[in-house]
Amino acid sequence: MEFSSKLLERAVNEMSQLPGIGKRTALRLVLHMLRQPKEQTTALSEALQTMRNDVKFCKSCHNISDVELCEICSNPNRIENTICVVEDVRDVMAIENTSSYKGLYHVLGGKISPMDGIGPHDLNVESLVKKVKEGKVKELIFALSSTMEGDTTNFYIYKQIQDYEILTSTIARGISVGDELEYADEITLGRSIINRIPFETSLKL
Ligand SMILES: [Zn+2]
Repeated sequence: MEFSSKLLERAVNEMSQLPGIGKRTALRLVLHMLRQPKEQTTALSEALQTMRNDVKFCKSCHNISDVELCEICSNPNRIENTICVVEDVRDVMAIENTSSYKGLYHVLGGKISPMDGIGPHDLNVESLVKKVKEGKVKELIFALSSTMEGDTTNFYIYKQIQDYEILTSTIARGISVGDELEYADEITLGRSIINRIPFETSLKL
């Protein structure tokens, strides 16, 4: 792509670093910004910069938060000894949307995936096992997507905590294998949390 301006080229190159954004789309977006009032681009870049600089991860559940302890963890009405294990913030949002769950979360930050070079130590597993060891957990609900990576991750965690006296369950699936949690509709997802099944049962299936 030949650019008439180095400034334009730089903006397009930066924009095209985003997933799913090729050079053509990046150019279209950048040209759109040039047609918009300047303030709009300023607001966008400020929002991104502030988010990147100031966003925090909850010290307990690792969810994205503006404060040290997220709103869910600090809410006294939540059931604090029930923990739902999810991959990332999108899963927390999806489950919160169902209004069917009143426990807390633990955000792993990904799934074990040897193909992508992601091992258990790249994820927030240790802090979860620690919560179990400290006796803070009565029930652990696995809510990772039912892919091979999700299953591997569930099983890895399960092996770490199986000697402790806690309930382990997995969300029941009206969702077909390989579907990502965030795409499940609210009613199906809500039901699958309420109708969760013992984790051991899911292993035998
Ligand atoms: Zn939290």
